Amino acid sequence: MTTERITAGNHLMKTYAPLEVTFERGEGAWLWDTNGQQYLDALSGIAVCGLGHAHPAITKTINEQAAKLLHTSNLYQIDKQQHLADQLCDISGMSRVFFSNSGAEANEAAIKIARLFGHKNNIENPNIIVMENSFHGRTMATLSATGNRKVQAGFEPLVQGFIRAPYNNIGAIKNIAENNNNVVAILVEPIQGEGGIQIPEPDYLNQLREICDQKNWLLMLDEIQTGMGRTGEWFAFQHNKIQPDVMTLAKALGNGVPIGACLANEKAGEVLQPGNHGSTFGGNPLMCATASTVIDTIKSKKLIAKAKHTGEYLLNSFKQKLASLDGVRNIRGLGLMIGIELDTAYLKHDCNEFATELVKLALEKHLLINVTAGNVIRLLPPLIIDQQQADTIINTVTELVLNVLQKKAA
Ligand SMILES: *Cc1c(COP(=O)(O)O)cnc(C)c1O
Repeated sequence: MTTERITAGNHLMKTYAPLEVTFERGEGAWLWDTNGQQYLDALSGIAVCGLGHAHPAITKTINEQAAKLLHTSNLYQIDKQQHLADQLCDISGMSRVFFSNSGAEANEAAIKIARLFGHKNNIENPNIIVMENSFHGRTMATLSATGNRKVQAGFEPLVQGFIRAPYNNIGAIKNIAENNNNVVAILVEPIQGEGGIQIPEPDYLNQLREICDQKNWLLMLDEIQTGMGRTGEWFAFQHNKIQPDVMTLAKALGNGVPIGACLANEKAGEVLQPGNHGSTFGGNPLMCATASTVIDTIKSKKLIAKAKHTGEYLLNSFKQKLASLDGVRNIRGLGLMIGIELDTAYLKHDCNEFATELVKLALEKHLLINVTAGNVIRLLPPLIIDQQQADTIINTVTELVLNVLQKKAA
């Protein structure tokens, strides 16, 4: 048997097929590659760098905290963690926080809370309602909760205890409520991100809230992508003037420093007790100090109002320029979370290749975008983008869309 030696630079597992570009440096919404070429970032590392790259306040906090203390342990009190929890509860109206290192882990905490909540209410086999087309992460429990066969295929047996329902369909939830006594919670994204920027009916969350109240279920919102100002509110549920029982955060919370959080109200926040859950790194001084500065900066620079305003400008401009085209099926968004859904029948390339093709074409034009759910251009620019950068995004994406569409074959 011969084992071929893997050459240097090829030792990574093939979990990603990255584009052929390496970024070396960033500033605000700009990135520079190793050849000194400049790019406009309309993706923010998938909704992570809301404050843009190398934000001076973030850099300062990381430098100062790194010079003082990186990590102790949750065996000791961590004042930076307590302060961040205070801030998060203040802006969200929630009561308690558990800190993790990623979004999937924040959702794991939510799932464990739901199950323990069920057992404490004498439900032996607790079930959580999850949605078709959803995304909740790549760990075993969260991929089982995810409504996408591609994420699950090959990893069976899946974690039990999830009931699948169509998104944005209250009738389906009511039907489950009538027929299943084992439900303890609903886990749902206020807007489905990976699923193609799917925005439900304006009162969808309100109706879910009502059902959860009637049935004593926990309403658990996955705000990992929608949270931290992205949609023009701190959290997407605030557009609905409701409160969830549990909410998960990650992505933009640390602006690139890995941190996740599972927030709960008083009822759900009492469920986990010493010994039930934990994390070695979760909530360490570096990540918490950074996330506190993220919150302070969003506040002091009024970035939520800016996200709302810039988002409306982008959405209206795209509608003006693209909505009348035959190959454009729908343009939708809330704040700086924008999706342009194309009709695959009008694409010059087949749908599977289309996503990679379009992202490559954008890269050639020095713009970073993403295509999700096969045919939805997804834009998640940093909250800090200015008018001129917004115009560059509008013009470049419009040009790209015109380039990839063709007249439908007769
Ligand atoms: C990104 C994402 C996750 C997973 O977060 P990770 O940090 O990659 O584990 C979960 N839910 C939603 C809605 C996301 O967008």
